Amino acid sequence: MQIPTIQLKRSIKDRILDECIQKKPNEACGFVWGTANFSWIHVEAFDSVPNCASNPSIQFSMDPVSLIPILTSKIGSGLEVVGIVHSHPTAAAIPSHEDLLTSWHQLPSHWIVSLQQPTPYIAAYQYVRLEGVDQDFSHSMHYRPIPITIIQG
Ligand SMILES: [Zn+2]
Repeated sequence: MQIPTIQLKRSIKDRILDECIQKKPNEACGFVWGTANFSWIHVEAFDSVPNCASNPSIQFSMDPVSLIPILTSKIGSGLEVVGIVHSHPTAAAIPSHEDLLTSWHQLPSHWIVSLQQPTPYIAAYQYVRLEGVDQDFSHSMHYRPIPITIIQG
């Protein structure tokens, strides 16, 4: 499977990082919207979603009450959800065991913002499910980094 390249406008990157910093010490979460094909993902917008996890400093769960208006707000815009973003306030930008259990694994990209170091670090991954490998879903899920190119805008 080909790995696409993400084209990310600087202004949207800044919005994502601001949201993650603001929600610290809890994990932030949200969607990136845009257009995608096999060779690129163009990101056009970011929406944050409240994290309703019972232990939000180490996990995220998108608040369903907020989720529906956000998902329906862009109907007709030509944009689709091209990725899910969440932050790791104290951990590296690597998918956790729990992250790999996501039911959103078919989305083209999964973004993790690490606030572990003084300078935030943003990484994106493609999750690839290998069929019939293991009973434990996360063990059959692999991830591959997607390069992010920052563009003006
Ligand atoms: Zn995570």
